[in-house]
Amino acid sequence: MSITPIEHWVDGAAWAGTSERTGDVFNPATGTVTGTVALASAADVGVAVAAAEAAWPAWRDASLATRLKVMFAFRELLNARKQELAEILTAEHGKVLADALGEIARGLEVVEFACGAGHLLKGEYSESVSTNVDVYTVRQPVGIVGVISPFNFPAMVPLWFLPIALVSGNAVVLKPSEKDPSASVWLARLLQEAGLPDGVLSIVHGDKEAVDALIDSPVVSALSFVGSTPIAKYIYERGSAAGKRVQALGGAKNHMLVLPDADLDLAADAAVNAGFGSAGERCMAVSVLLAVDTIADELVTKIAERVGQLRTGDGTRGCDMGPLITRAHRDKVAGYLDIAVADGAEIVVDGRDVVVDGGDDGFWLGPTLIDRVATTSAVYTDEIFGPVLSVVRIAGYDEGLALIEASPYGNGTAIFTNDGGAARRFQREVSVGMVGVNVPIPVPVAYHSFGGWKASLFGDAKAYGPQGFAFFTREKAITSRWLDPSHGGINLGFPAHD
Ligand code: NAD
Repeated sequence: MSITPIEHWVDGAAWAGTSERTGDVFNPATGTVTGTVALASAADVGVAVAAAEAAWPAWRDASLATRLKVMFAFRELLNARKQELAEILTAEHGKVLADALGEIARGLEVVEFACGAGHLLKGEYSESVSTNVDVYTVRQPVGIVGVISPFNFPAMVPLWFLPIALVSGNAVVLKPSEKDPSASVWLARLLQEAGLPDGVLSIVHGDKEAVDALIDSPVVSALSFVGSTPIAKYIYERGSAAGKRVQALGGAKNHMLVLPDADLDLAADAAVNAGFGSAGERCMAVSVLLAVDTIADELVTKIAERVGQLRTGDGTRGCDMGPLITRAHRDKVAGYLDIAVADGAEIVVDGRDVVVDGGDDGFWLGPTLIDRVATTSAVYTDEIFGPVLSVVRIAGYDEGLALIEASPYGNGTAIFTNDGGAARRFQREVSVGMVGVNVPIPVPVAYHSFGGWKASLFGDAKAYGPQGFAFFTREKAITSRWLDPSHGGINLGFPAHD
């Protein structure tokens, strides 16, 4: 099988860069190397940033109508060609095709939201705040923006940021995950086809060296990051110290609390969907099920039955769940099963035994269900980011809430109950950014904003939605008076209004 070179996309064209460094890109379902991605040097990043700097003034000054036209065309192209993109996602990430299409649909939502930029970029106007004085506000782009994205949503996470940053008049340099980099170049080509001027969006592949170059570039004025918590913290701290506006979305450990009055069949369906979709490699995956003792046995049985019916395999073959992203990650996740046993938990379904419909050398681990996980175990405290659902048995609501509150993460959580009072209490009390009530993966629609609390988000602005527009623009307030002779005279007092 041939190995495809995956190049940067700079100033509207593919570019190999000058660095000699490359990384392997795998098809996780076969375990074979399918691509070699260029890893940018700091100098390569500098070339992309310079292209953005050169292209930005004309894009900033282009009319809103011109920028919207690009976004509308992009929406049409993406919708028409989403199958092509889904196949790229499955080939490099491993997620099954249906899931890849779901990822694209959620990205498309943000494109459609960005098509309403005319409303979202509107300023405010106050007439005659003082004699002949009017005050109005406008939103202007922040300038050159760096976006750094994770492996688990190679299309959706870039689409959380690109449409809003671009339609607001910014130029963007995106550094996607080096593990599945092709989707981002595909998106950049499509944006070019939609009419985006060259240089306004560049893609640089790479690792820490490229990321550090973006952080250190004096030309880059804002950074959007999505990835694990330690890197998010690092980028937030280093980027903020360099005077940049930073939003850094981090990792997660999401709990689903099931109260005794919940519909246990629906709760079991939800736990399986949210626990094993995309092989658990979602920042909004449910990884801990908090089951009240009185219903825990029944719930675990129902979940185990459903897990037993899942088909794990190559994402192109109509399976339910695909492989993990790399062999190293697969082995790390599988290692938690040994830890679980050592810490006294009970493995109800062991993903190491899975029979797969896929290549012998794929990065496979089947869906795994672990019961009676101790909250002191690393299985509970670590973000595992794989198809491992842990059950923690609790006495009731208060114990469940206390565990969620004690978690350093605060990305998503869900309560399953038919008690409206309990649900209402939960949504008010819990310190988590996105809450589901009988909804297991409460990713807000594009016209709300996405982001967690605590170690799941560093910075003040969430992704997309109104906060996305606020992040990628700066508000300016203008106080104006058109002079006439009655405004003459000297007065050194602080301006008051009359
Ligand atoms: P990661 O933190 O390893 O990588 C994210 C990005 O940072 C990649 O582009 C990578 O190249 C870069 N990077 C890696 N190491 C770096 C370093 N030392 N210095 C600078 N940059 C570095 O994350 P990942 O494994 O790609 O993605 C999975 C993680 O992302 C999980 O923790 C998941 O919870 C999180 N995630 C969070 C959200 C959210 O919205 N909160 C969404 C998706 C994924």
